[in-house]
Amino acid sequence: MGLNKKYDGYKAYDYLEKGKDYVEFKTPKGIGRVEEYYVPLSAEEEKRVLDLAEKCIFISLHDHPVFFPEDMSRVFEYNREGRQLADYESLSKSYLDGIFDNLMDGTCTISSKNGWKWNDVLQDLGLRLCDLAHQDFIIRCEKVEDIRRAHREGKLALIPTIEGGAMLENEVDRVEILYGFGVRLMGITYSESNSLGSGLKEKNDGGLTALGYKVVERMNKVGMAIDCSHVGDKTTMDVIEASTKPIFLSHCGARALWESNRLKPDEVLKACAAKGGVIGIEAAPHTTLTANNLAHNIDSFMEHFEYIKDLVGIDHVAFGPDTLYGDHVGLHHAFTANLSIDKVNKGTLPYDEVEYVKGLENPTEASINILRWLVKHNYSDEDIKKVLGENILRVLEEVWV
Ligand SMILES: [Zn+2]
Repeated sequence: MGLNKKYDGYKAYDYLEKGKDYVEFKTPKGIGRVEEYYVPLSAEEEKRVLDLAEKCIFISLHDHPVFFPEDMSRVFEYNREGRQLADYESLSKSYLDGIFDNLMDGTCTISSKNGWKWNDVLQDLGLRLCDLAHQDFIIRCEKVEDIRRAHREGKLALIPTIEGGAMLENEVDRVEILYGFGVRLMGITYSESNSLGSGLKEKNDGGLTALGYKVVERMNKVGMAIDCSHVGDKTTMDVIEASTKPIFLSHCGARALWESNRLKPDEVLKACAAKGGVIGIEAAPHTTLTANNLAHNIDSFMEHFEYIKDLVGIDHVAFGPDTLYGDHVGLHHAFTANLSIDKVNKGTLPYDEVEYVKGLENPTEASINILRWLVKHNYSDEDIKKVLGENILRVLEEVWV
């Protein structure tokens, strides 16, 4: 049930008093902050899109479905509050049935400048889950059936996700604590290294550490899905080999199309698929560029999709747009160091900086345009079903326990 979502008008933290119980930040429009763009279609294609939106289970493998402040110079203050505001209304207009919500990730700077502190991660998670508990439209997803139920009932299943494992420090049991608090997917490292292994910005990738092997084993036993989107190539290969279950590369692209550590070389993409894993295509500004599209847009994003699909097969690709409700480029400028923006995109050619990614500006627009683009390019119903959700569900059925 991609359409007609059962949204009742709830806004984030409606149970509190703005300005009294928490600092209020003016938020931009969730949809329409910038000019909306929808892939143009014929009347017949429009009909097919609506039909597919209704019958396919559509899951975003990576997103940040929250508002950022309209005044981006206040983003540090906003993040110090540790209280992100989900945009329920805009999500109710998306085609999504499931969304992996990555919370504050590299910008979880509540008590520290550099983030990833255990207490901060728990505060971020706890406040968001408290907010979710006060409404009915978004289901906190704990098992695969919750996604199927969301699809049947016009709701959205939100899967709490953490992009890197730095906050485990040297405590393997924290995997279980996070699972207990609802986390169902975790990255091994963010772009910088941690006690588990090497991140993608390192010059010397030392591979998975002894502790990293223990964490992979524990994640397999607990039933938490593993992600290596921000992990160095050698460490990723070690994780794929060590894990008894398939893993995700939830938000990335093909380095063969664009020279950037943020994207994956063919051998890593192939190894992930050979183990049964799924690769989600990334749409954050200036990531999935190509020589054909030096201004980031839906066509360059889809070039990465088609390249990876041809390399590893349609059963191993999906979408992890990594979008948000607010000025994503402004966020990158503010958080260049935390997000390692300058360290990862070497660039095949000089590219045009865009103010936003046309057609993929936020989770709602991205979900609608991904389906529209696939219909416009004559993908079969069966293939569309696979890449929107069935491939992800197959892995989750195997991984989550
Ligand atoms: Zn990321």
